[in-house]
Amino acid sequence: MFGRAPKKSDNTKYYEVLGVSKSASADELKKAYKKAAIKNHPDKGGDPEKFKELAQAYEVLSDPEKREIYDQYGEDALKEGMGGGGASHNPFDIFESFFGGSPFGGSAFGGGSSRGRRQKQGEDVVHPLKVSLEELYTGISKKLSLSRNILCPKCKGKGSKSGASSRCSGCQGSGMRVSIRQLGPGMIQQMQHVCSDCRGSGETISDKDKCGQCKGNKVVQDKKMLEVNVEKGMQHGQKIVFQGEADEAPDTITGDIVFVLQLKEHPKFKRKGDDLYIEHSLTLAEALCGFQFTLKQLDGRQLLLKSSPGEIVKPGQYKAINDEGMPAYQRPFMRGRLYIHFSVDFPDSGSLLPEQCKAIETVLPPKPPCFLTDMELDECEETTLHDVNIDEEMRRKQQQQQQEAYDEDDEPAGGHRVQCAQQ
Ligand SMILES: [Zn+2]
Ligand SMILES: [Zn+2]
Repeated sequence: MFGRAPKKSDNTKYYEVLGVSKSASADELKKAYKKAAIKNHPDKGGDPEKFKELAQAYEVLSDPEKREIYDQYGEDALKEGMGGGGASHNPFDIFESFFGGSPFGGSAFGGGSSRGRRQKQGEDVVHPLKVSLEELYTGISKKLSLSRNILCPKCKGKGSKSGASSRCSGCQGSGMRVSIRQLGPGMIQQMQHVCSDCRGSGETISDKDKCGQCKGNKVVQDKKMLEVNVEKGMQHGQKIVFQGEADEAPDTITGDIVFVLQLKEHPKFKRKGDDLYIEHSLTLAEALCGFQFTLKQLDGRQLLLKSSPGEIVKPGQYKAINDEGMPAYQRPFMRGRLYIHFSVDFPDSGSLLPEQCKAIETVLPPKPPCFLTDMELDECEETTLHDVNIDEEMRRKQQQQQQEAYDEDDEPAGGHRVQCAQQ
């Protein structure tokens, strides 16, 4: 009696995700979810995908109606229903259109009106959305104007004034046509293609009856303003979904508009999770005798950073400021740390006079003592220290090695083979 047999589908995944048995009680589900959610929370270094999966599994299994649907028909059945623009919250409606009748055996839902015509799933429309680190720090709402197809409001997507349509004569209402081509004696090729008269819909509208607004196309262009809320702490690649806001089409479940956040590089700050990193170079005097500088935070505040009295900063050293990192997504009062990676700019050689060197030596830890006598020193061999660009030299040596390896490969292959055979 169903237009379509319920397909055998996976209906255990959600239970596995939560780590409970299929007969788990509502209480057991809740406990399992809580425990797993705490363990996998992205704030505690958990995988955000796994966390989302948990939330999704719990959302379905904690709702008795959804759970029943899931148990019988699996995840896909729920997805088909959710795409409907939020219009049908009653799962029976979903199944009415899905199977052309009630899955629960009753005739109360009187299948037949929709004649088992299954709604197609419309495509999602994906847009990249560029955001700056400042915007992810403070959160921002962006208004975007998009044009899309909507069902013609005048004819409600029927395409005709009267609401009537007749069966397309070109394809007898099937929407497809078959053409036959003779390839040679006794050989024919049969090809199926979409009917050009009705563009696959299987029905035609007489010119006189065509809707004035959509000219029988059933859909019209519409401009829509979407307000995209970029929340504090969102990540590069995170999706913001507007369910059922993509192009509308007759007999189609409208797809979603999906914005994917694309973080623009920041000239100063780098982000890792909820932490921020900056590079800062100190002069040698600052590194030894103390520093103080201001830093413009992503929300425009000026932060004052300074060393403690008598503190010496070494090249490559890190320091961190608590709670000046990124706000955590959906928990913006929790913030990561701001790390400062210090480098030290040494003065160029020759910029110190001998008496200045002496003065510095008096305050720095003493040089290692020399135990050699003048006589012994005289016997040592003098060497010359050259300045080198080590990166450049390494690169050149590597190139040379590659060239040598290449030259070896170039030897006639036969020679090697003879050697192998003799072994
Ligand atoms: Zn046709
Ligand atoms: Zn119309």
